[in-house]
This record gives sequence, structure tokens and C-alpha cells, in this order.
Amino acid sequence: MDLELLETTLAELGEPAYRARQVWRWAAQGADGFDAMTDLPLSLREALHGSLPFSTLTVRHEARAADGTVKALFLTRDGRPVEAVLMRYRDGRRSLCLSSQSGCPLTCTFCATGSMRFGRNLTASEIIDQALHFRRLGPVDHAVFMGMGEPLMNLDAVLRACSRLPSIGIAPRRTAVSTVGWIPGIGRLAREPAPLRLALSLHAADESLRSQIMPVNDRYPLAEVLAACREHFERKRRMVFVEYVMLAGVNDSVGQARQLARVLDPRMFKVNLIPYNPTGSAYEGSSPKAIEAFRAELERLGITATVRLTRGRDIAAACGQLAARG
Ligand code: SAH
Repeated sequence: MDLELLETTLAELGEPAYRARQVWRWAAQGADGFDAMTDLPLSLREALHGSLPFSTLTVRHEARAADGTVKALFLTRDGRPVEAVLMRYRDGRRSLCLSSQSGCPLTCTFCATGSMRFGRNLTASEIIDQALHFRRLGPVDHAVFMGMGEPLMNLDAVLRACSRLPSIGIAPRRTAVSTVGWIPGIGRLAREPAPLRLALSLHAADESLRSQIMPVNDRYPLAEVLAACREHFERKRRMVFVEYVMLAGVNDSVGQARQLARVLDPRMFKVNLIPYNPTGSAYEGSSPKAIEAFRAELERLGITATVRLTRGRDIAAACGQLAARG
């Protein structure tokens, strides 16, 4: 829902300011239209219905994976594609993977989003509408900005959206913002009072290899990115999660695990190894054996390391696969 338009529409209708809060409360609790908002006068519900689209996004396509993951492809009013994912875990956790941009201007070589055309930054309302869509399917409790786009290039809208997530059921501590290492954004996030989690897509400890697979490293080299993450840790006192996609023969040797351990302070960083999800790129995913050897070497060197559970690969909803192909 366009929350600014909601306020101006209510003002034009001569309604008191608390009406906006009433409407928001219903939406945040999963209402699927103005009609459901039974403590609003019927005439107001009808007026809103007639003058304000309930969502800034329309659902173009929805897919369900065998593991319960749901992926939605939305279109913005101006026709930009946006994807978001609901992940359901056996322990009951319901986690949203949200997009901050339509497409992505960065061109990480292993990521499908990076190979589609960049559209634009999403508005806060367009981010919130992704969350509201899944909230209508049931309660949700975690969110990660790991969908399309680079959230730290659109931080104003991301932070505005984050400020609304708690009323949907997602506390700031359960919200993670993932970045390629966009340094100005990391600095700003560190100074934010909200205890949001920071995740860094690292993928190679060696500067030249990292530049090769993530061109953004030429602009913001890893050493400087890690210094910014350190500052984030010192201000927030929360571990930074390092994401590391495992590419066979590229970044997955035991020697490269040692190199990674050398650049990470185990008090500040935890590593999450991501099995590569096919995107039509030239890469192949590392074997489970290689992933386990890499993980074991990190652990031996004192770095906590886990392997990310792959979700929704059969509907192209897994990490790196969002490219609005429906
Ligand atoms: N731009 C931000 C947010 C996207 S997060 C960032 O890069 O952090 C998406 C995560 O999935 C990132 O860690 C990204 O590197 C990872 N990823 C991209 N392509 C992937 C692929 N094909 N397989 C597995 N993970 C991938």
C-alpha cells in the first residue's frame, strides 16, 4: 500500500490522522482489502476501495516449491518486475527474502539478477508490499534483504520499510541486510540505532579473484569493506555474517579456506557457505565433499562456519536465481 498516498487520501476525505494507523494495523495483520477493516465506517471503506490501490504491486506469478518455499513475481505500477520469497523451515520459522531494487546494477558473475536489466530502486511501500503479500498467507517472523538488488544502494527506502516490519511480526534483530560491500551504506547502517543484522557477500578472500567474480570489488576493495564491517561490529556488537558461494575450482580449495580465515576475526564474523545455485552462468557448484572440507578447515582455524540450506531451487527461488523469468 502506498502509505503516503494513504495519508493524503485520508486527509482529502477529511478523516482524522489516526485512520492511517488503523488501516496500517489491519494491513500489517494480514487483511486482504479495505473491506475487511470492520472498525472503519462502511462509507470510508468504500471510499478507500474506490480511490486507493490496496497494494503498490500486482502479483504476476506465484510458484510453490516442494519444500514449502513460495516465490512471487510482482509488477510495480510502472511495470518493473520484482521477486520475493517466503521460506518455511521445519522448526516453524517463516522467513521473507525481500528485494530492494528491480534488477541490480552490480554485475556479480554468478548471480542471475546481475545479468538482467537494472530497473530502479524500489520505494519503501513497494518493499513493504512484498512483506504484506506473504503476511496474508500466515504469520512471518524473519526477513532478509537477499532478494533482487543491493539494499545499501537504496538504504533510505530499506530503513523506512524496516521500521514497519515489527508491526508485521518481524523484529529488527530478526532482520538481516545483505550487501556486496557497499561501504557508504555499511557506515550509515552502523550509525543506525535499529539492531539490524549485517551480512556481507564476500565470496573470495583474494582481492584479484574477488574483483574478477564481483566487479564491485574494484570500487570497494575487500580490505576496506572488512574495515567498515569491523566498525559496524564495534558499534552494534552483533556478529557480521559472511556469505560465501561455493564455486567449483574457483574459490573452494582448502588453501582458500585458510586465506579466508586469515582475513576474518572470529569474534566478529561467522561464515555461511552457500551451495551454488544454477543460473546459466559458466560456473559449477562445489561438490558436497569440497564444501565440507572448506567448512572443516574454517572451523579448525577457529571460524564458525555453517552450510546454508538450499530452498526453492526447483522454482528458481534460491539465492542468486531471482531474475524475473516467472
Ligand atoms: N546484493 C546483496 C543482496 C543480494 S543477497 C548481496 O549481494 O549481498 C543474495 C545472496 O545470494 C548474495 O550473497 C549473493 O552473492 C548470493 N548468490 C548470488 N548468486 C548466487 C548463486 N547462483 N548461488 C548461490 N548464491 C548466490
